[in-house]
Amino acid sequence: MPSSERKRTVGESLDQPRRGDRVPLLSVEAVAALPSRAREVVEYRKSGLSLNHVQGCPLDCAYCIRHTYGLWDSRQPRALMSDAEAVEQLVNHRYFQADITPVQIFNRATDPFLPKVKEHLFACLEDLDGRGLTNHVLVITRFRVTESDYERLQGLVNLKVTLLFTYSGIDDEKIEPFPSTVAADSMILASGYRPRRFRTVFYWRPLVPGLNDTPEHLARAAELSKHADAAVFTGLFYRNEIADYYKANGLPEPYQGTARRKIVPETLEQRVLEAFAKTEHAATLFRKTSCAVSYAHGLPDYNGHFGIRELCDICPVRQLQLCADAHRVPTASQLQEATAGLPEAAGLQVLDVTERAARVEGLADEQPRYFLQHKFAFQIHDAGHPHLLHRHRRAEIGWEQTS
Ligand code: SF4
Repeated sequence: MPSSERKRTVGESLDQPRRGDRVPLLSVEAVAALPSRAREVVEYRKSGLSLNHVQGCPLDCAYCIRHTYGLWDSRQPRALMSDAEAVEQLVNHRYFQADITPVQIFNRATDPFLPKVKEHLFACLEDLDGRGLTNHVLVITRFRVTESDYERLQGLVNLKVTLLFTYSGIDDEKIEPFPSTVAADSMILASGYRPRRFRTVFYWRPLVPGLNDTPEHLARAAELSKHADAAVFTGLFYRNEIADYYKANGLPEPYQGTARRKIVPETLEQRVLEAFAKTEHAATLFRKTSCAVSYAHGLPDYNGHFGIRELCDICPVRQLQLCADAHRVPTASQLQEATAGLPEAAGLQVLDVTERAARVEGLADEQPRYFLQHKFAFQIHDAGHPHLLHRHRRAEIGWEQTS
Protein backbone atom coordinates (compact mmCIF):
# COMPACT_ATOMS: atom_id res chain seq x y z
CA MET A 1 0.00 0.00 0.00
CA PRO A 2 1.46 3.44 -0.87
CA SER A 3 2.59 5.53 2.07
CA SER A 4 0.02 8.28 1.31
CA GLU A 5 -2.91 5.85 1.68
CA ARG A 6 -1.41 4.30 4.77
CA LYS A 7 -1.13 7.69 6.42
CA ARG A 8 -4.87 8.29 6.23
CA THR A 9 -5.53 5.19 8.26
CA VAL A 10 -2.74 5.37 10.81
CA GLY A 11 -4.99 6.38 13.70
CA GLU A 12 -7.85 4.01 12.93
CA SER A 13 -6.83 1.10 15.05
CA LEU A 14 -5.23 3.04 17.85
CA ASP A 15 -8.29 3.73 19.98
CA GLN A 16 -7.75 2.67 23.55
CA PRO A 17 -9.47 -0.69 24.15
CA ARG A 18 -10.82 -1.93 27.46
CA ARG A 19 -8.23 -3.45 29.75
CA GLY A 20 -7.93 -7.14 29.00
CA ASP A 21 -8.79 -6.78 25.31
CA ARG A 22 -6.49 -8.84 23.14
CA VAL A 23 -5.71 -9.07 19.45
CA PRO A 24 -7.48 -11.71 17.31
CA LEU A 25 -5.96 -15.17 17.15
CA LEU A 26 -5.13 -16.42 13.64
CA SER A 27 -6.42 -19.82 12.57
CA VAL A 28 -3.96 -22.65 12.02
CA GLU A 29 -4.56 -22.30 8.27
CA ALA A 30 -3.89 -18.56 8.34
CA VAL A 31 -0.65 -19.10 10.26
CA ALA A 32 0.42 -21.76 7.75
CA ALA A 33 -0.14 -19.27 4.92
CA LEU A 34 2.24 -16.67 6.42
CA PRO A 35 5.70 -16.16 4.89
CA SER A 36 8.12 -18.68 6.41
CA ARG A 37 10.18 -16.11 8.34
CA ALA A 38 7.01 -14.69 9.85
CA ARG A 39 6.23 -18.11 11.26
CA GLU A 40 9.45 -18.13 13.27
CA VAL A 41 7.99 -17.02 16.56
CA VAL A 42 11.28 -17.33 18.43
CA GLU A 43 14.36 -16.01 16.65
CA TYR A 44 17.81 -15.05 17.86
CA ARG A 45 18.60 -11.48 16.91
CA LYS A 46 21.68 -9.52 17.84
CA SER A 47 20.42 -8.09 21.11
CA GLY A 48 18.66 -11.22 22.30
CA LEU A 49 16.24 -14.06 21.75
CA SER A 50 13.19 -12.47 20.24
CA LEU A 51 9.58 -13.50 20.85
CA ASN A 52 7.16 -12.47 18.11
CA HIS A 53 3.87 -14.31 18.29
CA VAL A 54 1.94 -11.07 17.77
CA GLN A 55 2.55 -9.51 14.38
CA GLY A 56 1.16 -6.52 12.53
CA CYS A 57 1.55 -2.79 13.09
CA PRO A 58 -0.38 0.27 11.94
CA LEU A 59 2.36 2.79 12.71
CA ASP A 60 3.79 2.52 9.18
CA CYS A 61 7.41 3.65 9.58
CA ALA A 62 8.70 3.46 6.00
CA TYR A 63 11.95 1.79 7.10
CA CYS A 64 10.19 -0.94 9.12
CA ILE A 65 11.97 -4.29 9.32
CA ARG A 66 8.59 -5.90 8.47
CA HIS A 67 9.49 -5.26 4.83
CA THR A 68 12.12 -7.97 5.10
CA TYR A 69 9.74 -10.56 6.57
CA GLY A 70 7.04 -10.27 3.92
CA LEU A 71 4.78 -8.65 6.51
CA TRP A 72 4.64 -5.04 5.41
CA ASP A 73 0.94 -5.20 4.59
CA SER A 74 0.02 -6.74 7.94
CA ARG A 75 -1.18 -3.61 9.64
CA GLN A 76 -3.56 -5.07 12.18
CA PRO A 77 -1.87 -6.98 15.01
CA ARG A 78 -2.79 -10.67 15.13
CA ALA A 79 -1.64 -13.48 17.41
CA LEU A 80 -0.17 -16.65 15.95
CA MET A 81 -0.70 -18.56 19.21
CA SER A 82 -1.58 -17.97 22.85
CA ASP A 83 0.85 -16.16 25.13
CA ALA A 84 1.26 -19.26 27.30
CA GLU A 85 2.26 -21.34 24.25
CA ALA A 86 4.64 -18.64 23.06
CA VAL A 87 6.40 -18.39 26.43
CA GLU A 88 6.70 -22.18 26.53
CA GLN A 89 8.34 -22.08 23.10
CA LEU A 90 10.72 -19.40 24.29
CA VAL A 91 11.88 -21.01 27.52
CA ASN A 92 12.17 -24.44 25.89
CA HIS A 93 14.04 -23.11 22.88
CA ARG A 94 17.44 -24.68 22.36
CA TYR A 95 19.06 -21.24 22.60
CA PHE A 96 17.32 -20.10 25.77
CA GLN A 97 19.49 -20.02 28.89
CA ALA A 98 17.71 -19.25 32.14
CA ASP A 99 18.97 -16.03 33.76
CA ILE A 100 21.45 -15.43 30.91
CA THR A 101 19.82 -15.04 27.50
CA PRO A 102 18.60 -11.50 26.90
CA VAL A 103 15.02 -11.60 25.66
CA GLN A 104 13.15 -9.16 23.47
CA ILE A 105 9.37 -9.18 23.20
CA PHE A 106 7.63 -7.97 20.02
CA ASN A 107 10.61 -6.14 18.54
CA ARG A 108 10.18 -7.34 14.98
CA ALA A 109 6.66 -7.10 13.71
CA THR A 110 4.57 -4.95 16.03
CA ASP A 111 4.88 -2.40 18.81
CA PRO A 112 4.53 -3.95 22.28
CA PHE A 113 2.59 -1.01 23.74
CA LEU A 114 -0.04 -0.79 21.01
CA PRO A 115 -3.59 -1.08 22.36
CA LYS A 116 -4.44 -4.76 22.86
CA VAL A 117 -0.87 -5.82 22.04
CA LYS A 118 0.26 -4.71 25.46
CA GLU A 119 -2.04 -7.24 27.10
CA HIS A 120 0.08 -9.89 25.42
CA LEU A 121 3.27 -8.14 26.44
CA PHE A 122 2.27 -8.10 30.09
CA ALA A 123 1.02 -11.68 29.97
CA CYS A 124 4.45 -12.80 28.72
CA LEU A 125 6.37 -10.65 31.18
CA GLU A 126 4.29 -11.88 34.11
CA ASP A 127 4.64 -15.49 33.01
CA LEU A 128 8.43 -15.21 32.69
CA ASP A 129 8.73 -13.28 35.93
CA GLY A 130 6.53 -15.79 37.74
CA ARG A 131 9.04 -18.50 36.82
CA GLY A 132 11.67 -16.65 38.83
CA LEU A 133 13.76 -15.87 35.74
CA THR A 134 16.18 -12.95 36.01
CA ASN A 135 17.00 -12.53 32.31
CA HIS A 136 17.24 -9.10 30.74
CA VAL A 137 14.05 -8.31 28.83
CA LEU A 138 14.18 -5.50 26.28
CA VAL A 139 10.90 -3.86 25.31
CA ILE A 140 11.25 -1.40 22.43
CA THR A 141 8.41 1.03 21.79
CA ARG A 142 7.46 4.26 20.11
CA PHE A 143 3.94 4.21 21.53
CA ARG A 144 2.17 5.56 24.61
CA VAL A 145 3.09 4.21 28.03
CA THR A 146 0.60 5.00 30.78
CA GLU A 147 0.41 5.01 34.55
CA SER A 148 -1.39 1.64 34.61
CA ASP A 149 1.46 0.22 32.51
CA TYR A 150 3.87 1.51 35.13
CA GLU A 151 1.93 -0.30 37.84
CA ARG A 152 2.08 -3.59 35.99
CA LEU A 153 5.77 -3.16 35.28
CA GLN A 154 6.37 -2.48 38.95
CA GLY A 155 4.80 -5.83 39.75
CA LEU A 156 7.69 -7.66 38.05
CA VAL A 157 10.22 -8.64 40.67
CA ASN A 158 12.73 -10.94 38.98
CA LEU A 159 13.27 -9.94 35.35
CA LYS A 160 15.61 -7.11 34.44
CA VAL A 161 13.22 -5.07 32.31
CA THR A 162 14.35 -2.19 30.11
CA LEU A 163 11.99 0.01 28.12
CA LEU A 164 13.73 1.45 25.07
CA PHE A 165 11.92 4.44 23.60
CA THR A 166 12.49 4.79 19.88
CA TYR A 167 12.96 8.42 18.99
CA SER A 168 14.17 9.71 15.64
CA GLY A 169 13.06 13.32 15.44
CA ILE A 170 12.19 12.68 11.76
CA ASP A 171 9.59 15.25 10.68
CA ASP A 172 8.78 13.80 7.26
CA GLU A 173 5.38 12.14 7.68
CA LYS A 174 5.92 10.03 4.59
CA ILE A 175 8.74 8.30 6.44
CA GLU A 176 7.29 8.33 9.95
CA PRO A 177 3.55 9.00 10.03
CA PHE A 178 3.48 8.42 13.78
CA PRO A 179 5.35 11.25 15.52
CA SER A 180 8.47 10.66 17.59
CA THR A 181 7.14 13.05 20.19
CA VAL A 182 4.84 10.31 21.50
CA ALA A 183 7.82 8.12 22.37
CA ALA A 184 9.60 11.10 23.91
CA ASP A 185 6.58 11.89 26.11
CA SER A 186 6.27 8.23 27.12
CA MET A 187 9.93 8.14 28.03
CA ILE A 188 9.67 11.26 30.15
CA LEU A 189 6.61 9.89 31.92
CA ALA A 190 8.01 6.40 32.50
CA SER A 191 11.42 7.67 33.63
CA GLY A 192 9.82 10.01 36.13
CA TYR A 193 8.03 7.32 38.14
CA ARG A 194 9.39 6.54 41.59
CA PRO A 195 10.06 3.99 42.84
CA ARG A 196 10.91 2.29 39.58
CA ARG A 197 12.17 -1.25 39.10
CA PHE A 198 12.52 -1.12 35.31
CA ARG A 199 15.06 0.98 33.42
CA THR A 200 14.59 3.40 30.54
CA VAL A 201 16.78 3.98 27.49
CA PHE A 202 16.58 6.81 24.99
CA TYR A 203 16.79 4.78 21.79
CA TRP A 204 17.80 7.32 19.18
CA ARG A 205 17.24 5.79 15.80
CA PRO A 206 17.37 5.73 12.93
CA LEU A 207 19.86 8.53 12.45
CA VAL A 208 19.83 9.36 8.76
CA PRO A 209 22.04 12.00 7.13
CA GLY A 210 19.97 14.78 5.60
CA LEU A 211 16.81 13.74 7.39
CA ASN A 212 17.30 14.18 11.13
CA ASP A 213 20.89 15.27 11.67
CA THR A 214 20.78 19.07 11.74
CA PRO A 215 22.45 20.69 14.76
CA GLU A 216 18.92 21.37 16.09
CA HIS A 217 17.98 17.69 15.77
CA LEU A 218 21.11 16.63 17.63
CA ALA A 219 20.68 19.24 20.36
CA ARG A 220 17.02 18.26 20.88
CA ALA A 221 17.93 14.60 21.18
CA ALA A 222 20.68 15.30 23.70
CA GLU A 223 18.27 17.43 25.71
CA LEU A 224 15.56 14.75 25.71
CA SER A 225 18.01 12.06 26.72
CA LYS A 226 18.38 13.72 30.13
CA HIS A 227 15.26 11.92 31.30
CA ALA A 228 16.44 8.38 30.56
CA ASP A 229 18.81 6.09 32.44
CA ALA A 230 21.02 5.77 29.35
CA ALA A 231 21.03 6.60 25.64
CA VAL A 232 22.11 4.79 22.51
CA PHE A 233 22.19 5.91 18.90
CA THR A 234 22.08 3.84 15.79
CA GLY A 235 21.57 4.12 12.07
CA LEU A 236 19.24 2.71 9.48
CA PHE A 237 18.89 -0.85 8.31
CA TYR A 238 18.70 -0.05 4.61
CA ARG A 239 18.06 -3.45 3.11
CA ASN A 240 16.96 -4.18 -0.45
CA GLU A 241 13.28 -4.58 0.41
CA ILE A 242 13.27 -1.25 2.25
CA ALA A 243 15.10 0.49 -0.60
CA ASP A 244 12.52 -0.91 -3.05
CA TYR A 245 9.72 0.54 -0.96
CA TYR A 246 11.42 3.94 -0.84
CA LYS A 247 11.80 3.94 -4.61
CA ALA A 248 8.24 2.77 -5.31
CA ASN A 249 6.82 5.50 -3.10
CA GLY A 250 9.07 8.33 -4.24
CA LEU A 251 10.66 8.71 -0.80
CA PRO A 252 14.04 10.45 -0.61
CA GLU A 253 16.65 7.71 -0.59
CA PRO A 254 19.15 8.20 2.24
CA TYR A 255 21.98 6.19 0.68
CA GLN A 256 23.17 5.01 -2.70
CA GLY A 257 23.61 1.42 -1.59
CA THR A 258 22.10 -1.07 0.83
CA ALA A 259 23.93 -2.81 3.65
CA ARG A 260 23.82 -5.78 5.97
CA ARG A 261 24.55 -3.70 9.04
CA LYS A 262 23.07 -0.46 10.25
CA ILE A 263 24.52 2.64 8.68
CA VAL A 264 26.02 5.50 10.71
CA PRO A 265 28.51 7.63 8.78
CA GLU A 266 31.67 8.57 10.63
CA THR A 267 31.19 12.33 10.51
CA LEU A 268 27.67 11.98 11.88
CA GLU A 269 28.90 9.83 14.75
CA GLN A 270 31.43 12.51 15.66
CA ARG A 271 28.76 15.20 15.64
CA VAL A 272 26.48 13.07 17.82
CA LEU A 273 29.22 12.59 20.39
CA GLU A 274 29.95 16.31 20.42
CA ALA A 275 26.28 17.22 20.83
CA PHE A 276 26.02 15.00 23.90
CA ALA A 277 29.34 16.14 25.31
CA LYS A 278 28.25 19.75 25.35
CA THR A 279 24.78 19.12 26.81
CA GLU A 280 24.83 19.31 30.57
CA HIS A 281 23.17 16.26 32.18
CA ALA A 282 22.63 14.48 28.87
CA ALA A 283 22.24 10.74 29.44
CA THR A 284 25.33 8.60 29.22
CA LEU A 285 25.59 7.72 25.56
CA PHE A 286 26.55 4.34 24.08
CA ARG A 287 27.17 2.97 20.64
CA LYS A 288 25.68 -0.41 21.45
CA THR A 289 22.22 -1.22 22.71
CA SER A 290 23.47 -3.93 25.06
CA CYS A 291 25.94 -1.46 26.60
CA ALA A 292 23.17 1.05 27.32
CA VAL A 293 20.90 -1.63 28.78
CA SER A 294 23.65 -3.16 30.90
CA TYR A 295 24.81 0.21 32.17
CA ALA A 296 21.24 1.16 33.12
CA HIS A 297 21.13 -1.92 35.36
CA GLY A 298 24.62 -1.39 36.78
CA LEU A 299 25.92 -4.55 35.08
CA PRO A 300 28.73 -5.35 32.63
CA ASP A 301 27.81 -5.54 28.95
CA TYR A 302 26.18 -8.89 28.24
CA ASN A 303 27.44 -8.81 24.66
CA GLY A 304 31.10 -8.58 25.69
CA HIS A 305 31.87 -5.47 23.67
CA PHE A 306 34.65 -4.66 26.14
CA GLY A 307 37.00 -6.68 23.94
CA ILE A 308 36.46 -4.16 21.15
CA ARG A 309 38.16 -1.39 23.06
CA GLU A 310 37.53 1.42 20.60
CA LEU A 311 33.81 1.10 21.39
CA CYS A 312 34.46 1.92 25.03
CA ASP A 313 36.10 5.32 24.67
CA ILE A 314 32.83 7.07 25.54
CA CYS A 315 32.02 4.88 28.54
CA PRO A 316 32.16 6.11 32.17
CA VAL A 317 35.15 4.88 34.17
CA ARG A 318 33.04 2.90 36.63
CA GLN A 319 31.30 1.04 33.85
CA LEU A 320 34.62 0.35 32.15
CA GLN A 321 35.83 -1.21 35.37
CA LEU A 322 32.70 -3.35 35.66
CA CYS A 323 33.18 -4.65 32.14
CA ALA A 324 36.92 -5.13 32.63
CA ASP A 325 36.32 -7.22 35.77
CA ALA A 326 33.77 -9.38 33.95
CA HIS A 327 35.86 -9.88 30.80
CA ARG A 328 36.84 -13.54 30.34
CA VAL A 329 38.34 -14.96 27.19
CA PRO A 330 36.89 -18.39 26.44
CA THR A 331 38.98 -21.17 24.95
CA ALA A 332 38.25 -22.68 21.55
CA SER A 333 37.28 -25.96 23.17
CA GLN A 334 34.80 -24.22 25.50
CA LEU A 335 33.16 -22.71 22.45
CA GLN A 336 33.03 -26.08 20.69
CA GLU A 337 31.58 -27.79 23.77
CA ALA A 338 28.91 -25.15 24.25
CA THR A 339 27.50 -25.75 20.79
CA ALA A 340 27.48 -29.54 20.90
CA GLY A 341 24.00 -30.64 19.91
CA LEU A 342 23.08 -27.39 18.14
CA PRO A 343 22.30 -28.36 14.53
CA GLU A 344 23.15 -24.91 13.11
CA ALA A 345 26.60 -25.14 14.72
CA ALA A 346 27.54 -28.63 13.52
CA GLY A 347 30.18 -27.18 11.17
CA LEU A 348 31.64 -24.72 13.72
CA GLN A 349 35.35 -24.00 13.33
CA VAL A 350 37.07 -21.67 15.75
CA LEU A 351 39.80 -19.94 13.75
CA ASP A 352 41.31 -17.94 16.57
CA VAL A 353 40.50 -16.37 19.94
CA THR A 354 42.07 -13.11 21.06
CA GLU A 355 41.36 -10.62 23.85
CA ARG A 356 39.01 -8.87 21.41
CA ALA A 357 36.90 -11.68 20.00
CA ALA A 358 36.70 -15.22 18.72
CA ARG A 359 36.70 -15.64 14.95
CA VAL A 360 34.56 -18.52 13.74
CA GLU A 361 33.22 -20.03 10.55
CA GLY A 362 31.00 -22.89 9.48
CA LEU A 363 27.81 -21.79 11.25
CA ALA A 364 24.59 -22.35 9.30
CA ASP A 365 23.24 -18.93 10.32
CA GLU A 366 23.83 -16.16 12.85
CA GLN A 367 21.81 -17.58 15.73
CA PRO A 368 24.43 -19.87 17.30
CA ARG A 369 26.90 -16.99 17.14
CA TYR A 370 24.58 -14.86 19.29
CA PHE A 371 24.04 -17.84 21.60
CA LEU A 372 27.80 -18.12 22.17
CA GLN A 373 28.14 -14.39 22.54
CA HIS A 374 25.62 -14.30 25.35
CA LYS A 375 26.76 -17.50 27.01
CA PHE A 376 30.32 -16.22 27.34
CA ALA A 377 29.58 -12.46 27.31
CA PHE A 378 32.27 -12.33 24.69
CA GLN A 379 32.31 -11.20 21.08
CA ILE A 380 32.07 -13.96 18.48
CA HIS A 381 32.76 -12.81 14.93
CA ASP A 382 31.92 -14.56 11.71
CA ALA A 383 35.09 -14.77 9.59
CA GLY A 384 32.92 -14.23 6.51
CA HIS A 385 31.96 -10.75 7.73
CA PRO A 386 35.18 -9.22 9.07
CA HIS A 387 35.04 -6.40 11.60
CA LEU A 388 37.32 -3.55 10.67
CA LEU A 389 38.92 -1.28 13.25
CA HIS A 390 36.55 1.55 14.31
CA ARG A 391 33.76 0.13 12.17
CA HIS A 392 32.52 -2.54 14.49
CA ARG A 393 29.12 -3.65 13.22
CA ARG A 394 28.74 -0.48 11.22
CA ALA A 395 28.13 -0.72 7.50
CA GLU A 396 30.98 0.61 5.39
CA ILE A 397 28.85 3.25 3.71
CA GLY A 398 30.01 6.61 5.02
CA TRP A 399 33.33 5.35 6.39
CA GLU A 400 35.28 5.33 3.12
CA GLN A 401 37.71 8.07 4.17
CA THR A 402 39.07 6.17 7.15
CA SER A 403 40.52 3.12 5.41
S1 SF4 B 1 32.99 -0.59 28.92
FE1 SF4 B 1 32.74 -0.96 26.75
S2 SF4 B 1 31.62 -2.88 26.69
FE2 SF4 B 1 31.34 -2.07 28.75
S3 SF4 B 1 29.42 -0.92 28.66
FE3 SF4 B 1 31.12 0.47 28.28
S4 SF4 B 1 31.26 0.57 26.04
FE4 SF4 B 1 30.10 -1.25 26.55
